[in-house]
Order: sequence, then C-alpha cells, then structure tokens
Amino acid sequence: MFLFNGNWHQIIWEMEWPMLITLKFRKGVKPKNVRFRLCLALCLVILLFQCQTIFGQQKVVVIDPGHGGKDSGAIGLNGIKENEVVLHIAMEMLRLNNELDKPLDIYLTRYSDTLISLSDRTKLAKALKADLFVSLHCNHSDNPNARGIEVYVAHRKTKYSDRSIWLGFQLQDGLKKKLRLESRGVKFKNFQVLRETVDYCSSVLLELGFLSNNDESEYYQNTASLKALALVIFRILFKKLNSYERIRD
Ligand SMILES: [Zn+2]
Repeated sequence: MFLFNGNWHQIIWEMEWPMLITLKFRKGVKPKNVRFRLCLALCLVILLFQCQTIFGQQKVVVIDPGHGGKDSGAIGLNGIKENEVVLHIAMEMLRLNNELDKPLDIYLTRYSDTLISLSDRTKLAKALKADLFVSLHCNHSDNPNARGIEVYVAHRKTKYSDRSIWLGFQLQDGLKKKLRLESRGVKFKNFQVLRETVDYCSSVLLELGFLSNNDESEYYQNTASLKALALVIFRILFKKLNSYERIRD
C-alpha cells in the first residue's frame, strides 16, 4: 500500500503472518537513497521468511507401530500380541498430540491392524520429509528372565546419526526414570527400517519390554501402562524435537 501524506511517501507491506513493514521517504529524497532503503527492506523480508521456514514449521514425525495384520510379532506369555500393543501406544501418542495447541505433524505408518511392508513404511518417512522416524516394537527372548527396554539406531553413520543416538539415550533415560523400566541401553543394528531412513531423517527403533517375561507381559497387558508409556515417549519426542532446528540439505 502507498500513502502520500504532505511531505512524506510511505510504503506499507502487510505480511501473511502478523507483521507490517513500513518504509517512509521524505518528499524529494534522492532516488539512490530510496533504492538503498528498498534493498534493505527486501533483505529483511527474505531473512524473516527464512526464519519462518526454519522456526515456524512443526516437526514431522512418522511413528511406525511394528507388524500388523497376519504378522502379530511377538506373543506374550499371557497371549497379548506385539502388533496390538504398539498400535495402542502409537494411537495414544497421536491422541496426546492432537490435544496440543501447537501439535507436532504426526503420521502413523498404520492406523489399524493391517500389514504394511517395511519399505512402504520407510518410503512414507521419505515422502513426508520427516524429521524423525520412530519404530515401536516389543521384545521377545527364549530366556524368560530377559527384561528391559532397548533403543536401536542404524549402524551406518550419516548426518542424522548423532541426533538419532542422542534421542535414543533420552528415550531410554526418560523411560527408566519416569516409569522405572529397566534399560538395556542404546544399540546399533542394521534393521531395515533404520537402514532405509537414516539418509533422510533421525530414526530410532524402540524395543519395549519383553513379552516373554512374566512381569513385563503383565505390564503391557494393562491399558494404563500403555498410556503411561505413550505419554513419556511423546513428551520426550515433543520436548527434544522442539529444541533443535531441522537438518536439511
Ligand atoms: Zn517387532
């Protein structure tokens, strides 16, 4: 908008998000001074747009509840199924996110008890330009005493590796402190979903408790436990994701 007021010419630029940029020139000002101020204003606008791009976008998270459909994953001593446990946790995380004023941009690789191929799960993270891919699983062992949580990150090092490892430590530490679950640490493994996402985003695979362990299978049978797990995992992801900038090419 151009305003002419007595001795002044004024340019007012209203931007999409609530901000006004105004330029005011005295009548008869030299053209080179006008050009200089216009260039300065243009630089400011570009800078603000970049800031909006970097800080204004919500982080995109792909949550991958493992298995599904005819692939039930591990089956607990009490009959609970891994595919149902992890879907329950993922849906609860989605519900918690939707309650926020500024939610994360969360997508699930499956929203129901269906089998999705591993490559389709990782393609979704790539297509959505995700900031984080989190695969949820439950563990199983022939040793009935095996228990605790493991967090896996990909073997291969990329520019996302440090952040994946750091987030892995935050998750196992948070689950240990908040829910008193045992931690078996952060480990490196060549899981397909990690291998195929590590070039595009931070990615972790959570092996939640052992369904082959009596105590842990009982714990995962309890809906309140699954809600507590979802809450702790979601809060860590939300807090940590909002504390860092996007890594992009
Ligand atoms: Zn699994």
